[in-house]
Amino acid sequence: MSEITTMRILLVTPPLTQLNTPYPATPYLSGFLCSRGYNTAQQDLGIELIDSLFTKEKLAEVFSLAGDKGVSTHSDSKMLACQDRYLSTVDQVVNFLRGNDLSLATLIARSGFLPEGERFKHVADLEYSFGDLGVTDRAKHLATLYLEDISDFIRRTIDPHFELIRYAESLCVSLPSFDTLEERLCGEQSFIDELILDIFSKRFILDKPTVVGLSVPFPGNLYAALLVAKWIKTNHPEVKVLLGGGYVSTELRSIFDPRLFSYIDYLLFDDGEISILRLLEHFEEKCGEGKLVRTAFLKEGKVFFSGNEEENIAGSERATPLFSQLPLSKYISLVEVANPMLKLWSDGRWNKLILAHGCYWAKCAFCDVTLDYIKRYEPYDAFRIVDMMEEVIAQTGQTGFHFVDEAAPPALLKRISLEIIKRGLTVSWWANVRFEYSFTRDLCLLMARAGCIAVSGGLEVASDRLLTLMHKGVDLKQATTAASAFSSANIMVHAYLMYGFPSETLQETIDSLEVVRQLFEQNLVQSAFWHRFAMTVHSPVGCHPEQYGAKRTSCGSNPFANNEVYFKDGTNTDLVMLGEGLRKATYNYMHGVALDKPLNTWFEEKVPRCSIPSTLIAGYLITPKNDHLPNRGWLVSLADGFQLKLTDSRKPKLYIFNQSKHVEVVINTVEVDFWEIFFDTLKDQDGFWEISKLRELVLNQFPGGEEAFITSKVWKSLRKNGLAVS
Ligand code: SF4
Repeated sequence: MSEITTMRILLVTPPLTQLNTPYPATPYLSGFLCSRGYNTAQQDLGIELIDSLFTKEKLAEVFSLAGDKGVSTHSDSKMLACQDRYLSTVDQVVNFLRGNDLSLATLIARSGFLPEGERFKHVADLEYSFGDLGVTDRAKHLATLYLEDISDFIRRTIDPHFELIRYAESLCVSLPSFDTLEERLCGEQSFIDELILDIFSKRFILDKPTVVGLSVPFPGNLYAALLVAKWIKTNHPEVKVLLGGGYVSTELRSIFDPRLFSYIDYLLFDDGEISILRLLEHFEEKCGEGKLVRTAFLKEGKVFFSGNEEENIAGSERATPLFSQLPLSKYISLVEVANPMLKLWSDGRWNKLILAHGCYWAKCAFCDVTLDYIKRYEPYDAFRIVDMMEEVIAQTGQTGFHFVDEAAPPALLKRISLEIIKRGLTVSWWANVRFEYSFTRDLCLLMARAGCIAVSGGLEVASDRLLTLMHKGVDLKQATTAASAFSSANIMVHAYLMYGFPSETLQETIDSLEVVRQLFEQNLVQSAFWHRFAMTVHSPVGCHPEQYGAKRTSCGSNPFANNEVYFKDGTNTDLVMLGEGLRKATYNYMHGVALDKPLNTWFEEKVPRCSIPSTLIAGYLITPKNDHLPNRGWLVSLADGFQLKLTDSRKPKLYIFNQSKHVEVVINTVEVDFWEIFFDTLKDQDGFWEISKLRELVLNQFPGGEEAFITSKVWKSLRKNGLAVS
């Protein structure tokens, strides 16, 4: 038997990430390794932890343990006293959140079924918040509060590090030294620690892996990853343990503390495909240590980095991610907020796919543009991506996709949309984009027709001076135009916002809020979130803060994690007070209320009046003329149907049908022959027409030629109501 068949690789996502759908790192790696003949398996230890913890049996242990320890707060005493209600409902609630028993929604949504803890305090706001969402969403929200109550109870009584979607994150955020984490890893194990190890060890015994890859996308996965790694090293020291993922690639690139390597053998940076492939070949003695790619390991007591920075796996060699190796029926939907756009992140089993490697812009000053996952741009083939979508649907049975690129390229989205429409695929999807002019009304209509339901994008600090300073490459006019194109195509828009960028004045932050208010007022964005700016070592502003009006206050390299750069910029703004006010205002705007409330009333302290006109955004909303016929591209039918009624030869008509509406256009009698050919051809070609060929027909057969064609009533109506030019 060859070594390839004897090596067994287990790829693990440690607790905890989001609970509604698998994180895509291990499915991508596993798909790739399987395509190279390796024997891989995957474990989402996070969803298995939740699956095991939120059961009648385990919850009884939690209550018993908490009771033995004694509780100090009124809310914990109340939960202990009501434990029977929790124990008799927990299995059903989890089953409901998995989507298995939706008939329970009415009972959950009706008060009296679920025991109610602290999280239910604001439940009176539900009518107001969930007015537009149905009974199922309301029930999901209440069930989410119920799980959050239990999770809060666990955190307060038996494990201070437990949260629903992260574990021990507070131990791992900004970790210059390994000391505190190691102290915790060497300390007494908590109930949750033991449960994680119990689940993992059972799987380990079944799979008997020879290599375990731990993927750490966020700080909230690091502690559990090392807990598992320690168990492996203690019980099976011969097994190779690898650590990779977004956190490793961002924060551990310059680690020099060797202690981490008593838990793991190798750190892998960036995508992981080439690094893990080379490492497995090294284990098989097919290549020497010198061939390892972007890998760190311990050599003569010191952390050694392999280099070979330029080697990568080409996009064409990447395989379809393998979601089928994960327990898909166990994922649970959570609804924390009523906003239909925001709930996409936690509700529904979205298949996560990547459209391109890196960002096609890769210039924003605050972004980690020096790292491979942003700076190396390579779009994948649209045809192959749609193939992958079909393969993933076959694996998961789910037709919803989240394209997780930091900024999906508009040209590629167009090709993908065309391919989805041509294949007649019914899918829904959402993506992150840059709000740029390339997102025309036609492209957005095409995307909507292909199943796009939402986009999110960075508006950052909504100020033209700061957008220029941070090299965002878009201005407010451009962002407004793009948001308008999305909204008019019924695609929901989420804006990522930022405050506290170097040199940003209080006035600019207030003006930025006013821009956001106007965007909501015009219904151009449906949700938004403010992040406090964090300067990172891998961003242009982190590399050269002085060019942005800031001075670094931290210096030198930390022995363990390196990411955030501390700085001062002389603005002395109270960012905590500002952040509170910005969030309060935006929360209200998301519910369509208080849009006329003076901006200063959202803040605890005095702030300046906004200095921009109240019509700024409305002024940018100019409907572009779109009647012209470009030289190339495709004409795509978007209407439900067309009908020519030529029975009355003096008044021939065209009907354009869209859902319950229709548009009626009288055709100029001299154009009748042309439009007959036009619609016959469009039908024969399943609603697609290459524009160069259409142009030929127009030049040869339309009475009056191209100018008469683009000004004809029928063409104008078609462009408005039923045809996109893409
Ligand atoms: S912030 Fe977004 S658009 Fe800007 S460089 Fe980063 S990924 Fe690209």
